[in-house]
Amino acid sequence: MPAISFEFFPPKTDEQRAQLDRAAQVLKAHQPEYASVTFGAGGSTLSYTGDTVARLHQQHGLNVAPHLSCMGGTRAEIAELLDGYRAAGYRRLVALRGDMPSGMATAGDFRYAAELVSFIRQHCGDHFHIEVAAYPETHPQADDALRDLQHFKAKIDAGANGAITQYFFNPDAYFRFVDDVRKLGVNVPIVPGIMPIANYTQLKRFSDMCGAEIPRWIAKRMQAHGDDAESIRALGAEVVAQLCRRLLEGGAPGLHFYTLNRAKATQSVLQQLA
Ligand code: FAD
Repeated sequence: MPAISFEFFPPKTDEQRAQLDRAAQVLKAHQPEYASVTFGAGGSTLSYTGDTVARLHQQHGLNVAPHLSCMGGTRAEIAELLDGYRAAGYRRLVALRGDMPSGMATAGDFRYAAELVSFIRQHCGDHFHIEVAAYPETHPQADDALRDLQHFKAKIDAGANGAITQYFFNPDAYFRFVDDVRKLGVNVPIVPGIMPIANYTQLKRFSDMCGAEIPRWIAKRMQAHGDDAESIRALGAEVVAQLCRRLLEGGAPGLHFYTLNRAKATQSVLQQLA
C-alpha cells in the first residue's frame, strides 16, 4: 500500500465531533502517514482547526497537519498560531491562500500562498514539512493556465516540501500537470487528492464550486442510479479505486483522501486497493 493521508474538517457540534471520532477510529487502521485538518474552509470558524488537530493527535494518536491559510490574519496572528503548533510538537502544515470571505478585499497580510510559505520558513526555519495546493485542472480563478503553473512553482521555490492536488477524475490531467511542472524544475512529490464518491448531488455541488470536472461518463452513470445510494456508493468506489490504481501505476507518490469526516466511502476505495 502506498503512503496515504486523510483530510478532515473541524466539527462544530457534539454530533459532528462524534462522527469525526468514528471516522478517525475506523480510518486509522489504514495507518495513514498523517491526518490534515482544514482551516476556515466552507465557513468553519478558524479556531476549530487547532482543537481538531489536538483531538486527532491526542485521542487517536495520529500525526497531524493543520491547514493554515492567508485568511489566518496578520503576521503576528499567524506567528502565534505557528508557535502554538510548534510547541505542540506538530511537524507538518498545509499552507494555502484560502478563499476571500465575500465582500472583503483583503483578509490578512499575505495575498498568495507563496508569501505565507516564505513567512513560515522565515519564522520557523525547517521545523515544518510544508505541503501546498496544486491544481491539475488549473485553479478556477486563474485566467492563464501557464501562469498558474508558474505560480505553483513559486510556492515550491518559497520553501514548500510537497504538494497535494485538488481532486480530479481524469488521471491524464494529473500526469500532464506533473510533467509540466517537472519541466519547470519542480522536483517535490505531488500527491493526488482523492475524493471518494458517496453522494453524487454533493459531489456535483463541490465540483461546481472548486472547478473539478466530472467526466460525462461518470455523471451519466451516476444519474442512471437515481436515488439508489447503495449503487452509487458501489459504482463510486469502483471508479475511484480504478483512478487510484492508474495514478499509482503511473508513479503517483501516495494518495490523500478527502474524507469529509466519514469513513465508509474512503474505506471502500482502500479495500479495493488492498
Ligand atoms: P495560491 O497558490 O496563492 O493561488 C491562488 C490563485 O492566485 C491562483 O489562481 C494562482 O494562479 C494565483 N496567483 C498566485 N500567485 C500569484 C501572483 N503572484 N500574482 C498573480 N496571481 C497569483 N481552502 C481553505 O480555505 N482552507 C483549507 O483548509 C483548504 N485546504 C485545501 C487543501 C488542498 C489540498 C487544496 C487543493 C485546496 C484547499 N483549499 C482550502 C482551497 C484553496 O484555499 C483555494 O483553492 C484557494 O482559492 C487557492 O489557494 P492556493 O493556496 O492554491 O492559492
